Amino acid sequence: PVVPSGGVVARILEEVYELCRSDTSGTLADYIPELAAVQPDSFGICLATADGRVYGSGDLDTAFTIQSISKPFTYALALADRGPAAVAERIDVEPSGEPFFEISLDPTTQRPRNPMINAGAIAAAALVDGADAADRFARIRRSYSRFAGRQLSMNEAVYASESRTGYRNRAIAYLLRGAGIVDGDPDEAVDRYFRQCSIDVTVRDLAVMAATLANNGTNPLTRERALSRPLVEQVLSVMTTCGMYDSAGDWVTTVGLPAKSGVGGGILAVLPGQIGIAVYSPRLDAHGSSVRGVKACRELSNRLGLHFLHVT
Ligand code: GLN
Repeated sequence: PVVPSGGVVARILEEVYELCRSDTSGTLADYIPELAAVQPDSFGICLATADGRVYGSGDLDTAFTIQSISKPFTYALALADRGPAAVAERIDVEPSGEPFFEISLDPTTQRPRNPMINAGAIAAAALVDGADAADRFARIRRSYSRFAGRQLSMNEAVYASESRTGYRNRAIAYLLRGAGIVDGDPDEAVDRYFRQCSIDVTVRDLAVMAATLANNGTNPLTRERALSRPLVEQVLSVMTTCGMYDSAGDWVTTVGLPAKSGVGGGILAVLPGQIGIAVYSPRLDAHGSSVRGVKACRELSNRLGLHFLHVT
């Protein structure tokens, strides 16, 4: 696929925004109590190109928590810190076809099936290097900030809310510890995961993060390298097969882009070499993905011919 000229992109973005705006179906995530406190009608779409142009419609500056969209970025940092072989010993790359919260460990190897479900994401958070817990989280925050091209910070209220209620994720961390996938303190690993999920972003930040992946790991606005080229390929591969959980097959057939959704209402998608797309709208479908986000990505992919198997 070849991205059309700027004028065409801006017009199509506007059309897709108007088309999706009337869809108020879906519900806010409420299992993390603080997530139910957001403005449900917020809606923004942003597209950033690998050569640094940014287009947007709607609420581009509303902050929301990154949630599971953090997973590919922490996985990327774990790969950079430990190397792909060491990470593969602990986290597989097979789609699970299961929801994100599934307690899913391979029966023979005990590895989480992939780094996009919570089990694999908590295992990845445990693999991040650092002098102590504070340093390990600081490295995660700095890494995401390089992708976004600005200093990101954590939403204390959402973090406190998930930390207070996240029993299932704690259980997963303890299972990982029991299986020898997590070596250190499982509470530290799951706490880091809660913190990374609570980092605040805007839809513009997510589009730039996606564009950095599209640009082989170099932020197209700051020119700073956030990830090495071979690791970008590994991360985008796992996003393609596992990023949308139990709707990964539907997503690949109808949108055809590596992507990741989060229960904060964000979705990020990447057309390698060309563009990053992000949508924010907090009402979710049954898979925990933004309803308008899925619809907007479908429309953008169709109208701009972005499906990675699309031939012109
Ligand atoms: N912090 C959330 C959780 O672990 C993230 C889930 C998601 O965004 N799918 O439950």
